[in-house]
Amino acid sequence: MAETADAVVIGGGVMGCSILYHLAARGMPDALLLERDALGSGSTGRSSGAVRMHYSTEVHAQMAWRSLQVFRDFDNIVGGQCGYTNTGYLVFAPDAAVDGFRANIALQQRIGINTGEISPDAAAELAPGFRLDDCAAIAWEPLSGHADPSGTALAYAARARQLGARVRLQTPAQSVEVTGGRVTAVTANGQRIETGRVIVATGPWSRRFLLDHGIDLPLQATRHEVIHLRRPPELPYHPGAGDIANLIYFRPEGSELTLIGNGNLEDDVDDPELYAQRPTQSFIGEVWTRIARRIPAMAGAEFAAGYAGLYTQTPDSHPVIDRVDGIDGLYICTGFSGHGFKLSPAVGLLVAELVLDGQTATIDLSPLRMSRFAEGRLNLPSYGFRVLV
Ligand SMILES: Cc1cc2nc3c(=O)[nH]c(=O)nc-3n(C[C@H](O)[C@H](O)[C@H](O)COP(=O)(O)OP(=O)(O)OC[C@H]3O[C@@H](n4cnc5c(N)ncnc54)[C@H](O)[C@@H]3O)c2cc1C
Repeated sequence: MAETADAVVIGGGVMGCSILYHLAARGMPDALLLERDALGSGSTGRSSGAVRMHYSTEVHAQMAWRSLQVFRDFDNIVGGQCGYTNTGYLVFAPDAAVDGFRANIALQQRIGINTGEISPDAAAELAPGFRLDDCAAIAWEPLSGHADPSGTALAYAARARQLGARVRLQTPAQSVEVTGGRVTAVTANGQRIETGRVIVATGPWSRRFLLDHGIDLPLQATRHEVIHLRRPPELPYHPGAGDIANLIYFRPEGSELTLIGNGNLEDDVDDPELYAQRPTQSFIGEVWTRIARRIPAMAGAEFAAGYAGLYTQTPDSHPVIDRVDGIDGLYICTGFSGHGFKLSPAVGLLVAELVLDGQTATIDLSPLRMSRFAEGRLNLPSYGFRVLV
């Protein structure tokens, strides 16, 4: 007898795992997740895990805010640990960005996000040792911080299993079978699994997987590096930050390290399984110079670690979360462009609404529809900073 599933989620990154959990939590008896390798082995396992609210579009800000409530109370809401650490988050804006920055804060406050502009003196108290004289404006998000992306994915998958869902590792999905305009099965490891619903959450693998099914979306895998520096002893623990002037983001990692990424320094990658995972001298030098502009004592830090990971970039740095017109039962959830982790609790909830109710009730996802590229209706971010969109 053929194997069946109520829905098949393809991809075991934080998005696939959150979707699986939300389907199971909504009462779907037999949801199945297929992962080609291990859970979190794609972008999720390389993510910096920053959880901040500063966004320039309503859809992003709403998803981030909704998700923050879950990160802060993960054990009670989902069950298990997501590693949430509340450091607070500063955003530094130079002169050229200040109008957009203030408009974004007003948008975030309308949604109810706990954020606001603070004076340089107040920022200096929160972040001793930071240079602030180049900032035209500074925002402070007291509730933000970071969490553990792989741990969150694993926690979602573990809870989904407890609720009856299944997770199959080392199982690449090869194709989605469509008959008469409807999804009828998925083939994986040469085996056919009958299902009427498939959610493609394949991160950087999405462009090729979707093209194989006749769906041409502007998704580009891009390589991004991250480094960890050991702070000099005189420099205290500090909040997380997005620095629009220096195009870096950073946050404490454990008690002694500072994690620093850029997001704009990127290379296109053709095959997500073949990219250089080590950091480059040029990135280390460039980013070290930039962090030392914001925190001068970091010039005397020690290099501790570095690695690279992949974003799934779209032209407007917004994801695609949509059902596919003309193929009943096929859903796409990809293109998170370097800032998806912090949205993952809301994304799982919204995709479950889309799959089970035919539409979302919690947040309007129309700005993330797949047709926006062909329509030329992109969500234009305020800054040229890839990660703060
Ligand atoms: C260096 C770096 C720093 C980042 N920093 C942040 C940050 O600070 N804050 C933030 O919010 N976001 C951040 N992000 C972005 C965030 O990590 C991603 O948006 C998020 O992890 C995307 O999750 P995903 O599930 O869509 O993709 P992925 O984690 O890539 O998961 C996709 C999964 O699908 C699997 N797969 C692919 N094809 C198949 C197939 N055919 N069959 C079965 N399985 C398949 C892959 O193996 C993979 O496990 C960062 C990303 C990187 C790389």
